[in-house]
Amino acid sequence: MAGPLASLQDLLRPPLWEWTAAALGLVVGSFANVCIHRIPRDEPIGSPPSRCPGCRTPIRPWDNIPVVSYMLLRGRCRTCGTRISARYPLVEAANAAAYWGVAVVYGPSLAAAIAMALVTALLVLSLIDLDHQILPDVITRPAIVAGIAASLVIHRLGLESGARPASLIGGTFWWEAPAAAGAGYAAFALIAWAGRRYYGQEALGRGDWKLAAMLGAFLGFKGLLLTVFFGSLLGAVIGLSLVALRKASRTTPIPFGTFLGVAGIGVVLAGAPVWRWYLLRNGF
Ligand SMILES: [Zn+2]
Repeated sequence: MAGPLASLQDLLRPPLWEWTAAALGLVVGSFANVCIHRIPRDEPIGSPPSRCPGCRTPIRPWDNIPVVSYMLLRGRCRTCGTRISARYPLVEAANAAAYWGVAVVYGPSLAAAIAMALVTALLVLSLIDLDHQILPDVITRPAIVAGIAASLVIHRLGLESGARPASLIGGTFWWEAPAAAGAGYAAFALIAWAGRRYYGQEALGRGDWKLAAMLGAFLGFKGLLLTVFFGSLLGAVIGLSLVALRKASRTTPIPFGTFLGVAGIGVVLAGAPVWRWYLLRNGF
């Protein structure tokens, strides 16, 4: 490669690339917190600025530095001392860690940028589903379109080969993203229909169907299969553990979107090697 692109790649050599990604992850994680809080309440994302939940004082920019401000203020509002939830810095740190992982696995690439956007969307959806048992259309619908578009661009530019050893982004074939999105949606709709028909229970809401479509759009068939498998496994393990610990009963609703989101982030980071390991193990 020559010209400005080469010098950009030169500039983004490790470890600067990884640290830049982690710092970006902190800032975007702070934005994710705003989305998690406001989207389910139908509040605008952009304004008003964040306020202390206790005294309604607007949070000053220097008290809003991801993770750092929380530690300096020991998790309390500067004005009134109200406790601020530890989840805010944890979400920021988790998003930063995920971006750092994406940076290591993907290197500086278009696939990395797509993977970062997907990871944050999944983190936001996971926590909204955990809090409210919904997966808002304002996230899933544009994400399906964005996932298909991004996958088509990856294939159109022939960039899939560069990221191929490390990534499932975009799938193997150019038509895979729309096909996997449709298949994910249809499969989940079918499971939901069967659940209603035979158990008289709403097992999978429409939000889950769209999340499955979104995962297929970004990660293709392999990524979708791996995510559904590990998401179900995670849900079963945690659900049964909570029942055993008497923290939940068999009828407690399980936010499947939360487990799918967490599994999806894992698949973005490690799906390709896990898939190869599975194929090798079974003699392909
Ligand atoms: Zn306050």
